[in-house]
Amino acid sequence: MSNQSSVRVRFAPSPTGPLHMGGVRTALFNYLFARQNNGTFVLRIEDTDQTRYVNGAEDYIIESLKWCGLEFDEGPVQGGSYGPYRQSERKARYRRFADQLLEKGHAYYAFDTAEELDQARKVAEEEGRTFSYDEHTRLAMKNSLALPREEVDQMIANGQPYVIRFKMPDEAEVVEDEDMIRGKVSFRTSELDDKVLFKADGMPTYHLANVVDDHLMEITHVIRGEEWLPSMPLHVLLYRAFGWDKPVFAHLPLILKPQGKGKLSKRDGDKLGFPVFPLKWRDPESGEVAAGYREDGYFPEAFINMLALLGWNPGTEQELFSKDELVNAFSFDRVNKAGARFDPEKARWFNHQYLIQKTDEELAGLFGPVLVEKGVVPPPLDSLASIVGLVKERVSFVSELWEQSAFFFAIPEEYDAKVAKKRWKGDVPAFMSQLAVFFAEEEISWKAELLKEKVSGMIKEKEMNFGAVMNSLRLALVGGSFGPDLFTIVEMLGRDEVVDRIHKAVDQLGG
Ligand code: GLU
Repeated sequence: MSNQSSVRVRFAPSPTGPLHMGGVRTALFNYLFARQNNGTFVLRIEDTDQTRYVNGAEDYIIESLKWCGLEFDEGPVQGGSYGPYRQSERKARYRRFADQLLEKGHAYYAFDTAEELDQARKVAEEEGRTFSYDEHTRLAMKNSLALPREEVDQMIANGQPYVIRFKMPDEAEVVEDEDMIRGKVSFRTSELDDKVLFKADGMPTYHLANVVDDHLMEITHVIRGEEWLPSMPLHVLLYRAFGWDKPVFAHLPLILKPQGKGKLSKRDGDKLGFPVFPLKWRDPESGEVAAGYREDGYFPEAFINMLALLGWNPGTEQELFSKDELVNAFSFDRVNKAGARFDPEKARWFNHQYLIQKTDEELAGLFGPVLVEKGVVPPPLDSLASIVGLVKERVSFVSELWEQSAFFFAIPEEYDAKVAKKRWKGDVPAFMSQLAVFFAEEEISWKAELLKEKVSGMIKEKEMNFGAVMNSLRLALVGGSFGPDLFTIVEMLGRDEVVDRIHKAVDQLGG
């Protein structure tokens, strides 16, 4: 593409399970920034930690983002000129970069076994300290800084397992960097430990692979969750050690529990009954199933709109944004540092807004399969569309259209006892029988307005209680006190059905 800018961003999930909605928001903000800048949006799968790899997670991530309409320009599926886009397939590249750091003296070999590290931790604990592998302790450990060269060479030649650690600079210093959301971030190198860059299993750690790939893939902006902020100092130092330009960082605020304290977890979702994952997920080990926004009936546009406003605000009252509008309006200046509280009610509200924006025909098309599931043969699309149009204001999900409109498809099986007790009494039942006769015989055109006028006239004439009659008629037709305008229901059900339903109610409730 000729007008492509140099902006390159990436979403870099690890396939360790289903993608949390916070991850989807990270992908979204990357996407918005890329599109806004005519840049490139890359998907990179960070699967170097084989112990945490979960089958099916990568496919899940890709399908989730597809459902959300967040298209990638480069990634494991479509490829691209910076591939491969799965770190496990880039394995051979990382060692070379670890070696560069070893040569420059920014990294060293460490041979400490798990037991030895445990021991060091225990000793520190007993002395009331926390063990940290750093400038104060490294010379007492088993590594290439502490041991004679020959011994190190010998251990390597003998095939003794080792890791490669980053060597924090000797001179304590304060390093500063700019975060697009947080502004100036500064940290003291003396407070950082010598992180492992390369593991004994021949794989890089997240830190090395992430920085190397961001460099090789020419990523200009690293936009990721707040949980990675503690990694930023090491990453900044790694760029410096390699002598590479660093990308610009942006660490997005956490998504908090509805109560406001702490990160939103799957447990919160289970407890309060909302999904925290975009799609339903079945754990391949335990078989446990977690709910998904898609299966719970959310529209992807609503989900994305809701996510965009978790941490970002447009600075106006506007809440509904199409994806294109988000691309135009989004800016890091208006992304908050503070965590964003998730409100499940608001999520439903967004879905309702998107639902009522759809045409009645569109909704009828979506509702048809629900009817089939309920064993109802869907009526022609135009009549179904009129039914849907009557009740859509009352629902947030397509599936809820059923509760609101089931009476259009079948005579009520039962009647709301409370309503019956309150309204179906005295002279009402007898009047209902007269109404049935009127509906059956009166030769007027079957139109809501006209029917309403006639029935109101009858009520007045017989000095009946208006509310009691109308509520009883509704009870007979829908089985309860809910539903849209009563005479619209009368018109839509048609003469025969209305008469039948009144007769059935009189039979069952007494007349
Ligand atoms: N693999 C990391 C994750 O799972 C990537 C973090 C980053 O974007 O640097 O989120």
